[in-house]
Amino acid sequence: MSERGVYIGRYVVPKDREYYEIRNPADTRQLVAKFPKLTREDTRGTIAIAKDAFLKWSKTLPVERAKILYKAAEIIESRANDLAKLLTMEEGKTLADSMFEVIRTVNLLRFYAGLIVKDMGKVIPSQDRNTIILTTREPLGVIAVITPWNFPLSLPAWKIIPAIATGNTVVWKPASITPTIALELVKAFYEAGLPEGVLNLVTGPASEVGDELVTNREVDAITFTGSLQTGREINEKVGRQNRFVRIQLELGGKNAMVLSKNGDANLAVELTVRSAFGLTGQACTATSRFLVPEDMHDEVLSKLIERTKKVVVGNGLRQGVDMGPLASREQYEKVLGYIEIGKNEGAKLVYGGQPIKGGEEFDYGYFVMPTIFDQVTPDMRIAKEEIFGPVLAVMTYRTLDEAIDIVNSTEYGLIAGIITRDISEAAKFAENVKVGVVKVNKPTIGLEPWVPYGGVKGSGNDIYKEMGEEAIEFFTRIKATYIGY
Ligand code: NDP
Repeated sequence: MSERGVYIGRYVVPKDREYYEIRNPADTRQLVAKFPKLTREDTRGTIAIAKDAFLKWSKTLPVERAKILYKAAEIIESRANDLAKLLTMEEGKTLADSMFEVIRTVNLLRFYAGLIVKDMGKVIPSQDRNTIILTTREPLGVIAVITPWNFPLSLPAWKIIPAIATGNTVVWKPASITPTIALELVKAFYEAGLPEGVLNLVTGPASEVGDELVTNREVDAITFTGSLQTGREINEKVGRQNRFVRIQLELGGKNAMVLSKNGDANLAVELTVRSAFGLTGQACTATSRFLVPEDMHDEVLSKLIERTKKVVVGNGLRQGVDMGPLASREQYEKVLGYIEIGKNEGAKLVYGGQPIKGGEEFDYGYFVMPTIFDQVTPDMRIAKEEIFGPVLAVMTYRTLDEAIDIVNSTEYGLIAGIITRDISEAAKFAENVKVGVVKVNKPTIGLEPWVPYGGVKGSGNDIYKEMGEEAIEFFTRIKATYIGY
Protein backbone atom coordinates (compact mmCIF):
# COMPACT_ATOMS: atom_id res chain seq x y z
CA MET A 1 0.00 0.00 0.00
CA SER A 2 1.46 3.38 -0.91
CA GLU A 3 1.12 6.57 1.09
CA ARG A 4 -1.50 7.64 -1.39
CA GLY A 5 -3.73 4.72 -0.54
CA VAL A 6 -4.08 1.50 -2.48
CA TYR A 7 -4.91 3.31 -5.69
CA ILE A 8 -2.46 3.94 -8.38
CA GLY A 9 -3.44 6.87 -10.45
CA ARG A 10 -4.63 10.22 -9.17
CA TYR A 11 -7.36 9.15 -6.81
CA VAL A 12 -6.38 9.25 -3.15
CA VAL A 13 -8.51 7.16 -0.81
CA PRO A 14 -9.89 9.31 2.00
CA LYS A 15 -8.42 8.36 5.38
CA ASP A 16 -11.73 7.58 7.04
CA ARG A 17 -12.74 4.75 4.69
CA GLU A 18 -13.45 1.38 6.28
CA TYR A 19 -11.27 -1.59 5.22
CA TYR A 20 -12.37 -5.19 4.77
CA GLU A 21 -10.33 -8.38 4.89
CA ILE A 22 -9.45 -10.85 2.18
CA ARG A 23 -8.79 -14.34 3.57
CA ASN A 24 -7.43 -17.48 1.96
CA PRO A 25 -10.40 -19.78 1.18
CA ALA A 26 -8.17 -22.85 1.73
CA ASP A 27 -7.19 -21.59 5.18
CA THR A 28 -9.27 -18.75 6.52
CA ARG A 29 -6.78 -18.13 9.33
CA GLN A 30 -4.53 -16.57 6.71
CA LEU A 31 -5.10 -12.89 5.99
CA VAL A 32 -4.17 -12.08 2.38
CA ALA A 33 -4.84 -8.31 2.28
CA LYS A 34 -7.13 -5.49 3.33
CA PHE A 35 -8.96 -3.22 0.93
CA PRO A 36 -11.03 -0.08 1.38
CA LYS A 37 -14.78 -0.05 0.98
CA LEU A 38 -15.09 2.84 -1.41
CA THR A 39 -18.26 4.83 -1.70
CA ARG A 40 -20.39 6.16 -4.52
CA GLU A 41 -18.63 9.48 -4.18
CA ASP A 42 -15.17 7.85 -4.50
CA THR A 43 -16.35 6.04 -7.61
CA ARG A 44 -17.58 9.30 -9.12
CA GLY A 45 -14.15 10.79 -8.39
CA THR A 46 -12.35 8.02 -10.26
CA ILE A 47 -14.72 8.28 -13.22
CA ALA A 48 -13.88 11.97 -13.44
CA ILE A 49 -10.16 11.14 -13.38
CA ALA A 50 -10.62 8.57 -16.13
CA LYS A 51 -12.57 11.09 -18.20
CA ASP A 52 -9.84 13.63 -17.86
CA ALA A 53 -7.11 11.07 -18.72
CA PHE A 54 -9.04 10.09 -21.86
CA LEU A 55 -8.33 13.47 -23.47
CA LYS A 56 -4.62 12.71 -23.78
CA TRP A 57 -4.63 8.92 -23.87
CA SER A 58 -7.02 8.77 -26.83
CA LYS A 59 -4.56 10.88 -28.83
CA THR A 60 -1.52 8.68 -28.22
CA LEU A 61 -0.27 6.69 -31.18
CA PRO A 62 -1.13 2.98 -31.30
CA VAL A 63 2.57 2.22 -31.46
CA GLU A 64 3.10 4.09 -28.17
CA ARG A 65 0.30 2.14 -26.50
CA ALA A 66 1.68 -1.13 -27.90
CA LYS A 67 5.04 -0.38 -26.30
CA ILE A 68 3.39 -0.14 -22.87
CA LEU A 69 1.51 -3.39 -23.41
CA TYR A 70 4.70 -5.23 -24.41
CA LYS A 71 6.45 -3.87 -21.35
CA ALA A 72 3.56 -4.88 -19.04
CA ALA A 73 3.75 -8.39 -20.54
CA GLU A 74 7.43 -8.56 -19.69
CA ILE A 75 6.80 -7.39 -16.11
CA ILE A 76 4.02 -9.91 -15.52
CA GLU A 77 6.03 -12.71 -17.07
CA SER A 78 9.00 -11.95 -14.84
CA ARG A 79 6.71 -12.18 -11.78
CA ALA A 80 4.73 -15.19 -12.92
CA ASN A 81 5.56 -17.45 -9.98
CA ASP A 82 4.72 -14.84 -7.33
CA LEU A 83 1.54 -13.77 -9.07
CA ALA A 84 0.34 -17.36 -9.46
CA LYS A 85 0.96 -17.98 -5.76
CA LEU A 86 -0.93 -14.85 -4.76
CA LEU A 87 -3.83 -15.75 -7.02
CA THR A 88 -4.06 -19.22 -5.43
CA MET A 89 -3.97 -17.74 -1.93
CA GLU A 90 -6.75 -15.34 -2.77
CA GLU A 91 -9.09 -17.42 -4.95
CA GLY A 92 -8.14 -20.98 -4.01
CA LYS A 93 -7.54 -22.55 -7.45
CA THR A 94 -4.47 -24.76 -7.95
CA LEU A 95 -1.10 -23.26 -8.67
CA ALA A 96 -1.13 -24.76 -12.18
CA ASP A 97 -4.49 -23.11 -12.90
CA SER A 98 -3.26 -19.79 -11.52
CA MET A 99 -0.16 -20.01 -13.69
CA PHE A 100 -2.41 -20.63 -16.68
CA GLU A 101 -4.18 -17.32 -15.92
CA VAL A 102 -0.90 -15.43 -15.59
CA ILE A 103 0.40 -16.77 -18.90
CA ARG A 104 -2.91 -16.05 -20.61
CA THR A 105 -2.65 -12.45 -19.42
CA VAL A 106 0.83 -12.17 -20.91
CA ASN A 107 -0.46 -13.64 -24.18
CA LEU A 108 -3.37 -11.20 -24.26
CA LEU A 109 -1.04 -8.23 -23.76
CA ARG A 110 1.18 -9.32 -26.66
CA PHE A 111 -1.76 -10.22 -28.89
CA TYR A 112 -3.46 -6.82 -28.58
CA ALA A 113 -0.13 -4.97 -28.76
CA GLY A 114 0.40 -6.58 -32.16
CA LEU A 115 -3.19 -6.12 -33.26
CA ILE A 116 -3.55 -2.38 -32.69
CA VAL A 117 -0.69 -1.49 -34.98
CA LYS A 118 -2.40 -3.37 -37.80
CA ASP A 119 -5.23 -2.01 -39.96
CA MET A 120 -8.09 -0.43 -38.02
CA GLY A 121 -10.43 0.50 -40.84
CA LYS A 122 -10.96 0.17 -44.55
CA VAL A 123 -11.02 2.08 -47.81
CA ILE A 124 -14.30 1.84 -49.75
CA PRO A 125 -14.51 2.69 -53.48
CA SER A 126 -16.74 5.71 -54.05
CA GLN A 127 -19.47 6.15 -56.69
CA ASP A 128 -17.96 9.61 -57.38
CA ARG A 129 -14.69 10.35 -59.13
CA ASN A 130 -11.85 11.97 -57.20
CA THR A 131 -13.22 10.72 -53.91
CA ILE A 132 -11.73 8.49 -51.25
CA ILE A 133 -13.94 7.02 -48.56
CA LEU A 134 -12.35 5.51 -45.52
CA THR A 135 -13.45 4.18 -42.16
CA THR A 136 -11.49 4.60 -38.96
CA ARG A 137 -12.05 3.23 -35.48
CA GLU A 138 -12.18 5.61 -32.54
CA PRO A 139 -12.13 4.88 -28.80
CA LEU A 140 -15.38 5.40 -26.89
CA GLY A 141 -14.22 7.16 -23.71
CA VAL A 142 -14.50 5.84 -20.15
CA ILE A 143 -15.18 2.11 -19.90
CA ALA A 144 -16.65 0.61 -16.72
CA VAL A 145 -15.25 -2.89 -16.24
CA ILE A 146 -17.05 -5.11 -13.70
CA THR A 147 -15.68 -8.60 -13.17
CA PRO A 148 -16.26 -11.81 -11.16
CA TRP A 149 -13.82 -13.60 -8.86
CA ASN A 150 -13.41 -16.94 -10.60
CA PHE A 151 -10.82 -15.77 -13.16
CA PRO A 152 -9.70 -12.70 -11.26
CA LEU A 153 -6.69 -11.92 -13.48
CA SER A 154 -7.09 -13.15 -17.04
CA LEU A 155 -10.80 -12.37 -17.41
CA PRO A 156 -10.46 -8.68 -16.45
CA ALA A 157 -7.34 -8.67 -18.63
CA TRP A 158 -9.32 -9.70 -21.72
CA LYS A 159 -11.54 -6.66 -21.21
CA ILE A 160 -9.03 -4.09 -19.93
CA ILE A 161 -6.27 -4.77 -22.45
CA PRO A 162 -8.29 -4.21 -25.65
CA ALA A 163 -10.02 -1.24 -23.96
CA ILE A 164 -6.76 0.51 -23.16
CA ALA A 165 -5.03 -0.64 -26.36
CA THR A 166 -7.66 1.15 -28.46
CA GLY A 167 -7.31 4.42 -26.53
CA ASN A 168 -10.05 4.22 -23.90
CA THR A 169 -9.62 4.74 -20.18
CA VAL A 170 -10.96 2.31 -17.60
CA VAL A 171 -12.57 2.27 -14.17
CA TRP A 172 -12.48 -1.31 -12.92
CA LYS A 173 -14.47 -2.86 -10.13
CA PRO A 174 -13.07 -6.31 -9.37
CA ALA A 175 -15.16 -8.81 -7.40
CA SER A 176 -15.01 -7.93 -3.72
CA ILE A 177 -13.26 -11.18 -2.81
CA THR A 178 -10.38 -10.92 -5.32
CA PRO A 179 -8.97 -7.37 -5.38
CA THR A 180 -5.39 -8.32 -4.44
CA ILE A 181 -4.45 -9.93 -7.75
CA ALA A 182 -6.37 -7.11 -9.49
CA LEU A 183 -4.11 -4.53 -7.93
CA GLU A 184 -1.06 -6.45 -9.22
CA LEU A 185 -2.32 -6.11 -12.79
CA VAL A 186 -2.85 -2.38 -12.32
CA LYS A 187 0.65 -2.01 -10.84
CA ALA A 188 2.24 -3.82 -13.78
CA PHE A 189 0.54 -1.42 -16.21
CA TYR A 190 1.79 1.66 -14.36
CA GLU A 191 5.30 0.27 -14.01
CA ALA A 192 5.23 -0.27 -17.77
CA GLY A 193 4.62 3.45 -18.26
CA LEU A 194 0.84 3.84 -18.41
CA PRO A 195 -0.03 7.51 -17.75
CA GLU A 196 -1.91 8.32 -14.55
CA GLY A 197 -5.66 7.90 -14.63
CA VAL A 198 -5.86 5.56 -17.62
CA LEU A 199 -6.62 2.48 -15.47
CA ASN A 200 -8.39 2.97 -12.14
CA LEU A 201 -9.28 0.31 -9.61
CA VAL A 202 -12.27 0.79 -7.31
CA THR A 203 -13.03 -1.71 -4.55
CA GLY A 204 -16.12 -1.83 -2.41
CA PRO A 205 -19.71 -2.98 -2.29
CA ALA A 206 -21.59 -3.62 -5.51
CA SER A 207 -24.52 -1.59 -4.18
CA GLU A 208 -22.37 1.57 -4.12
CA VAL A 209 -19.37 1.15 -6.40
CA GLY A 210 -21.02 -1.19 -8.92
CA ASP A 211 -24.23 0.79 -9.01
CA GLU A 212 -22.41 4.07 -9.60
CA LEU A 213 -20.43 2.57 -12.48
CA VAL A 214 -23.62 1.32 -14.08
CA THR A 215 -25.64 4.51 -13.67
CA ASN A 216 -23.07 7.31 -14.04
CA ARG A 217 -23.73 9.19 -17.26
CA GLU A 218 -20.05 9.97 -17.79
CA VAL A 219 -19.40 6.28 -18.44
CA ASP A 220 -19.42 5.52 -22.17
CA ALA A 221 -19.59 1.72 -22.09
CA ILE A 222 -20.07 -1.03 -19.55
CA THR A 223 -18.48 -4.44 -19.88
CA PHE A 224 -19.70 -6.89 -17.28
CA THR A 225 -19.10 -10.57 -16.57
CA GLY A 226 -21.00 -12.27 -13.76
CA SER A 227 -24.23 -14.00 -12.98
CA LEU A 228 -27.40 -13.92 -15.07
CA GLN A 229 -29.25 -12.28 -12.22
CA THR A 230 -26.80 -9.37 -11.93
CA GLY A 231 -26.63 -9.06 -15.72
CA ARG A 232 -30.39 -8.68 -15.87
CA GLU A 233 -30.32 -6.11 -13.08
CA ILE A 234 -27.70 -4.01 -14.87
CA ASN A 235 -29.53 -4.24 -18.18
CA GLU A 236 -32.75 -3.10 -16.55
CA LYS A 237 -31.12 -0.20 -14.71
CA VAL A 238 -29.48 1.16 -17.83
CA GLY A 239 -32.71 0.71 -19.78
CA ARG A 240 -34.66 2.67 -17.19
CA GLN A 241 -32.23 5.57 -17.56
CA ASN A 242 -33.09 5.81 -21.23
CA ARG A 243 -29.54 6.64 -22.30
CA PHE A 244 -27.46 5.29 -25.15
CA VAL A 245 -24.58 3.37 -23.68
CA ARG A 246 -22.91 0.23 -24.91
CA ILE A 247 -23.30 -2.77 -22.64
CA GLN A 248 -21.55 -6.08 -22.93
CA LEU A 249 -22.94 -8.79 -20.64
CA GLU A 250 -21.21 -12.17 -20.33
CA LEU A 251 -23.17 -14.35 -17.93
CA GLY A 252 -23.50 -17.85 -16.54
CA GLY A 253 -23.61 -21.28 -18.13
CA LYS A 254 -25.01 -24.77 -17.67
CA ASN A 255 -22.70 -26.52 -20.08
CA ALA A 256 -23.23 -30.06 -21.28
CA MET A 257 -20.82 -32.69 -22.51
CA VAL A 258 -22.40 -35.34 -24.73
CA LEU A 259 -20.84 -38.75 -25.19
CA SER A 260 -22.03 -40.15 -28.51
CA LYS A 261 -22.44 -43.86 -29.21
CA ASN A 262 -19.54 -43.38 -31.62
CA GLY A 263 -17.32 -41.67 -29.10
CA ASP A 264 -14.45 -42.89 -26.94
CA ALA A 265 -15.96 -43.44 -23.47
CA ASN A 266 -12.59 -43.19 -21.73
CA LEU A 267 -11.87 -39.85 -23.38
CA ALA A 268 -15.35 -38.60 -22.45
CA VAL A 269 -14.85 -39.55 -18.82
CA GLU A 270 -11.39 -37.99 -18.66
CA LEU A 271 -12.46 -34.67 -20.23
CA THR A 272 -15.68 -34.52 -18.21
CA VAL A 273 -13.90 -35.04 -14.91
CA ARG A 274 -11.37 -32.35 -15.82
CA SER A 275 -14.07 -29.91 -16.93
CA ALA A 276 -16.46 -30.60 -14.04
CA PHE A 277 -14.04 -30.71 -11.12
CA GLY A 278 -11.01 -28.76 -12.39
CA LEU A 279 -11.19 -25.15 -11.10
CA THR A 280 -13.56 -26.65 -8.48
CA GLY A 281 -16.35 -26.34 -11.02
CA GLN A 282 -16.16 -22.58 -10.63
CA ALA A 283 -15.70 -21.81 -14.30
CA CYS A 284 -18.33 -20.39 -16.61
CA THR A 285 -17.01 -23.02 -19.05
CA ALA A 286 -17.29 -25.95 -16.60
CA THR A 287 -19.20 -29.10 -17.57
CA SER A 288 -22.16 -29.51 -15.26
CA ARG A 289 -24.24 -31.99 -17.28
CA PHE A 290 -22.89 -35.24 -18.73
CA LEU A 291 -25.17 -36.85 -21.32
CA VAL A 292 -24.62 -40.55 -21.90
CA PRO A 293 -26.37 -42.97 -24.31
CA GLU A 294 -28.88 -45.04 -22.34
CA ASP A 295 -27.29 -48.36 -23.30
CA MET A 296 -23.79 -47.24 -22.24
CA HIS A 297 -24.91 -45.77 -18.92
CA ASP A 298 -23.76 -48.45 -16.45
CA GLU A 299 -20.32 -48.86 -17.99
CA VAL A 300 -19.70 -45.11 -18.26
CA LEU A 301 -20.98 -44.33 -14.77
CA SER A 302 -18.64 -46.79 -13.14
CA LYS A 303 -15.69 -45.40 -15.14
CA LEU A 304 -16.73 -41.91 -14.13
CA ILE A 305 -16.83 -42.75 -10.43
CA GLU A 306 -13.48 -44.56 -10.58
CA ARG A 307 -11.83 -41.59 -12.29
CA THR A 308 -13.42 -39.08 -9.88
CA LYS A 309 -12.02 -41.00 -6.89
CA LYS A 310 -8.56 -40.07 -8.18
CA VAL A 311 -9.24 -36.29 -8.03
CA VAL A 312 -6.96 -34.95 -5.30
CA VAL A 313 -8.64 -32.20 -3.28
CA GLY A 314 -6.61 -29.86 -1.09
CA ASN A 315 -4.85 -26.54 -0.70
CA GLY A 316 -4.07 -25.32 -4.22
CA LEU A 317 -0.54 -24.43 -3.16
CA ARG A 318 0.28 -28.08 -2.49
CA GLN A 319 1.92 -30.02 -5.31
CA GLY A 320 -0.31 -32.70 -6.83
CA VAL A 321 -3.65 -31.12 -5.88
CA ASP A 322 -6.26 -31.18 -8.70
CA MET A 323 -9.08 -29.30 -7.00
CA GLY A 324 -8.93 -26.50 -4.45
CA PRO A 325 -11.61 -25.16 -2.10
CA LEU A 326 -14.65 -23.14 -3.06
CA ALA A 327 -13.74 -19.48 -3.21
CA SER A 328 -15.86 -18.16 -0.35
CA ARG A 329 -18.26 -19.10 2.42
CA GLU A 330 -21.12 -17.93 0.23
CA GLN A 331 -20.04 -20.32 -2.55
CA TYR A 332 -19.58 -23.16 -0.05
CA GLU A 333 -23.09 -22.73 1.33
CA LYS A 334 -24.60 -22.36 -2.12
CA VAL A 335 -23.01 -25.59 -3.39
CA LEU A 336 -24.01 -27.59 -0.29
CA GLY A 337 -27.51 -26.14 -0.68
CA TYR A 338 -27.73 -27.42 -4.27
CA ILE A 339 -26.57 -30.87 -3.16
CA GLU A 340 -29.55 -30.97 -0.79
CA ILE A 341 -31.84 -29.78 -3.57
CA GLY A 342 -30.56 -32.59 -5.82
CA LYS A 343 -31.23 -35.20 -3.15
CA ASN A 344 -34.69 -33.84 -2.43
CA GLU A 345 -35.79 -33.71 -6.04
CA GLY A 346 -35.00 -37.39 -6.51
CA ALA A 347 -31.61 -37.46 -8.23
CA LYS A 348 -29.37 -40.29 -7.05
CA LEU A 349 -26.20 -39.16 -5.28
CA VAL A 350 -23.56 -41.66 -6.42
CA TYR A 351 -20.36 -39.92 -5.31
CA GLY A 352 -19.29 -37.15 -2.91
CA GLY A 353 -21.95 -34.78 -1.66
CA GLN A 354 -20.06 -33.90 1.53
CA PRO A 355 -17.86 -31.15 2.85
CA ILE A 356 -14.31 -32.31 3.59
CA LYS A 357 -13.13 -31.77 7.15
CA GLY A 358 -10.34 -33.17 9.27
CA GLY A 359 -6.75 -32.11 9.88
CA GLU A 360 -4.89 -28.86 9.35
CA GLU A 361 -5.40 -28.91 5.58
CA PHE A 362 -9.20 -29.10 5.62
CA ASP A 363 -10.57 -27.71 8.87
CA TYR A 364 -10.16 -24.05 7.96
CA GLY A 365 -11.14 -24.10 4.31
CA TYR A 366 -14.23 -24.34 2.12
CA PHE A 367 -13.63 -27.86 0.80
CA VAL A 368 -16.36 -29.99 -0.75
CA MET A 369 -15.95 -33.41 -2.39
CA PRO A 370 -16.37 -33.71 -6.13
CA THR A 371 -20.01 -34.73 -6.41
CA ILE A 372 -21.90 -36.84 -8.96
CA PHE A 373 -25.67 -37.14 -9.25
CA ASP A 374 -27.11 -39.88 -11.45
CA GLN A 375 -30.66 -40.28 -12.85
CA VAL A 376 -30.98 -36.54 -13.36
CA THR A 377 -33.84 -35.44 -15.60
CA PRO A 378 -34.07 -32.16 -17.56
CA ASP A 379 -36.85 -30.77 -15.34
CA MET A 380 -34.76 -30.91 -12.15
CA ARG A 381 -33.25 -27.73 -10.77
CA ILE A 382 -29.78 -29.30 -10.67
CA ALA A 383 -30.12 -29.89 -14.43
CA LYS A 384 -31.25 -26.34 -15.18
CA GLU A 385 -29.65 -23.90 -12.74
CA GLU A 386 -26.02 -22.86 -12.58
CA ILE A 387 -24.50 -24.35 -9.42
CA PHE A 388 -20.97 -23.05 -10.04
CA GLY A 389 -19.28 -25.76 -8.03
CA PRO A 390 -18.00 -29.35 -8.34
CA VAL A 391 -21.39 -30.98 -8.91
CA LEU A 392 -22.00 -33.06 -12.03
CA ALA A 393 -25.42 -34.24 -13.26
CA VAL A 394 -25.43 -37.48 -15.28
CA MET A 395 -28.33 -37.77 -17.73
CA THR A 396 -29.21 -40.34 -20.39
CA TYR A 397 -30.56 -40.04 -23.94
CA ARG A 398 -31.51 -42.29 -26.86
CA THR A 399 -30.87 -40.35 -30.08
CA LEU A 400 -28.59 -37.48 -31.03
CA ASP A 401 -31.65 -35.28 -31.66
CA GLU A 402 -32.83 -35.94 -28.11
CA ALA A 403 -29.34 -35.15 -26.77
CA ILE A 404 -29.34 -31.83 -28.66
CA ASP A 405 -32.78 -30.99 -27.23
CA ILE A 406 -31.51 -31.66 -23.70
CA VAL A 407 -28.41 -29.53 -24.32
CA ASN A 408 -30.69 -26.70 -25.45
CA SER A 409 -33.23 -27.15 -22.67
CA THR A 410 -31.78 -24.64 -20.18
CA GLU A 411 -31.97 -20.87 -20.31
CA TYR A 412 -28.18 -20.70 -20.78
CA GLY A 413 -26.18 -21.03 -24.00
CA LEU A 414 -22.46 -20.75 -23.38
CA ILE A 415 -20.58 -23.91 -24.36
CA ALA A 416 -21.43 -27.45 -25.41
CA GLY A 417 -19.15 -30.42 -26.04
CA ILE A 418 -19.45 -33.72 -27.89
CA ILE A 419 -17.21 -36.76 -27.87
CA THR A 420 -17.51 -38.58 -31.17
CA ARG A 421 -15.46 -40.20 -33.92
CA ASP A 422 -18.15 -39.40 -36.48
CA ILE A 423 -17.53 -36.13 -38.32
CA SER A 424 -21.14 -35.84 -39.56
CA GLU A 425 -22.44 -36.21 -36.07
CA ALA A 426 -20.00 -33.55 -34.81
CA ALA A 427 -21.11 -31.16 -37.58
CA LYS A 428 -24.80 -31.75 -36.88
CA PHE A 429 -24.26 -31.17 -33.19
CA ALA A 430 -22.26 -27.97 -33.81
CA GLU A 431 -24.97 -26.64 -36.12
CA ASN A 432 -27.88 -27.29 -33.79
CA VAL A 433 -26.73 -26.49 -30.27
CA LYS A 434 -27.63 -22.95 -29.19
CA VAL A 435 -24.33 -21.86 -27.67
CA GLY A 436 -21.44 -19.50 -28.37
CA VAL A 437 -18.68 -22.13 -28.37
CA VAL A 438 -18.68 -25.80 -29.43
CA LYS A 439 -15.97 -28.27 -28.45
CA VAL A 440 -15.51 -31.59 -30.25
CA ASN A 441 -13.35 -34.15 -28.43
CA LYS A 442 -12.03 -31.35 -26.21
CA PRO A 443 -12.81 -30.29 -22.62
CA THR A 444 -15.45 -27.56 -22.23
CA ILE A 445 -12.99 -25.57 -20.08
CA GLY A 446 -10.08 -23.85 -21.80
CA LEU A 447 -10.34 -20.93 -24.20
CA GLU A 448 -7.69 -19.43 -26.43
CA PRO A 449 -7.26 -15.64 -26.26
CA TRP A 450 -7.16 -15.15 -30.03
CA VAL A 451 -10.57 -16.76 -30.49
CA PRO A 452 -13.83 -14.79 -30.11
CA TYR A 453 -15.86 -15.80 -27.08
CA GLY A 454 -19.33 -15.11 -25.76
CA GLY A 455 -22.60 -16.78 -24.85
CA VAL A 456 -26.13 -16.65 -26.26
CA LYS A 457 -29.61 -16.84 -24.64
CA GLY A 458 -29.18 -16.26 -20.89
CA SER A 459 -25.39 -16.54 -21.14
CA GLY A 460 -24.90 -13.09 -22.61
CA ASN A 461 -26.52 -10.18 -24.39
CA ASP A 462 -24.84 -11.47 -27.54
CA ILE A 463 -24.08 -8.21 -29.31
CA TYR A 464 -20.29 -8.10 -29.07
CA LYS A 465 -17.75 -10.87 -28.60
CA GLU A 466 -14.84 -10.86 -26.18
CA MET A 467 -11.24 -11.83 -27.00
CA GLY A 468 -9.85 -12.32 -30.48
CA GLU A 469 -9.81 -9.48 -33.00
CA GLU A 470 -13.57 -9.14 -32.40
CA ALA A 471 -13.03 -7.62 -28.95
CA ILE A 472 -11.93 -4.41 -30.67
CA GLU A 473 -15.48 -3.91 -31.96
CA PHE A 474 -16.94 -3.30 -28.53
CA PHE A 475 -14.30 -0.79 -27.51
CA THR A 476 -14.32 1.32 -30.68
CA ARG A 477 -16.81 3.09 -32.93
CA ILE A 478 -16.55 3.38 -36.67
CA LYS A 479 -16.36 6.75 -38.36
CA ALA A 480 -16.73 7.12 -42.14
CA THR A 481 -14.83 9.98 -43.80
CA TYR A 482 -15.40 11.12 -47.45
CA ILE A 483 -12.49 12.99 -48.99
CA GLY A 484 -12.88 14.75 -52.34
CA TYR A 485 -9.80 15.86 -54.25
P1 NDP B 1 -21.92 -11.59 -9.62
O1 NDP B 1 -22.89 -11.31 -10.70
O2 NDP B 1 -22.42 -11.77 -8.25
O3 NDP B 1 -20.82 -10.46 -9.54
C1 NDP B 1 -20.00 -10.09 -10.63
C2 NDP B 1 -19.44 -8.70 -10.41
O4 NDP B 1 -20.52 -7.77 -10.41
C3 NDP B 1 -18.75 -8.50 -9.06
O5 NDP B 1 -17.71 -7.59 -9.22
C4 NDP B 1 -19.86 -7.93 -8.20
O6 NDP B 1 -19.38 -7.19 -7.10
C5 NDP B 1 -20.55 -7.02 -9.21
N1 NDP B 1 -21.94 -6.74 -8.93
C6 NDP B 1 -22.83 -7.49 -8.24
N2 NDP B 1 -24.05 -6.89 -8.23
C7 NDP B 1 -23.93 -5.74 -8.95
C8 NDP B 1 -24.83 -4.70 -9.31
N3 NDP B 1 -26.10 -4.73 -8.95
N4 NDP B 1 -24.36 -3.67 -10.05
C9 NDP B 1 -23.08 -3.64 -10.44
N5 NDP B 1 -22.17 -4.58 -10.11
C10 NDP B 1 -22.59 -5.64 -9.39
O7 NDP B 1 -21.11 -12.90 -10.10
P2 NDP B 1 -19.94 -13.67 -9.34
O8 NDP B 1 -18.85 -12.75 -8.95
O9 NDP B 1 -20.54 -14.54 -8.29
O10 NDP B 1 -19.36 -14.57 -10.51
C11 NDP B 1 -19.86 -15.80 -10.88
C12 NDP B 1 -20.74 -15.68 -12.12
O11 NDP B 1 -19.97 -15.18 -13.21
C13 NDP B 1 -21.26 -17.02 -12.59
O12 NDP B 1 -22.61 -16.88 -12.94
C14 NDP B 1 -20.41 -17.31 -13.83
O13 NDP B 1 -21.01 -18.17 -14.74
C15 NDP B 1 -20.21 -15.95 -14.38
N6 NDP B 1 -19.06 -15.95 -15.29
C16 NDP B 1 -19.31 -15.83 -16.64
C17 NDP B 1 -18.25 -15.88 -17.53
C18 NDP B 1 -18.48 -15.68 -18.99
O14 NDP B 1 -17.53 -15.34 -19.69
N7 NDP B 1 -19.66 -15.86 -19.50
C19 NDP B 1 -16.87 -16.09 -17.08
C20 NDP B 1 -16.74 -16.18 -15.65
C21 NDP B 1 -17.82 -16.11 -14.79
P3 NDP B 1 -19.20 -7.86 -5.63
O15 NDP B 1 -18.13 -8.89 -5.77
O16 NDP B 1 -18.80 -6.72 -4.78
O17 NDP B 1 -20.53 -8.45 -5.28
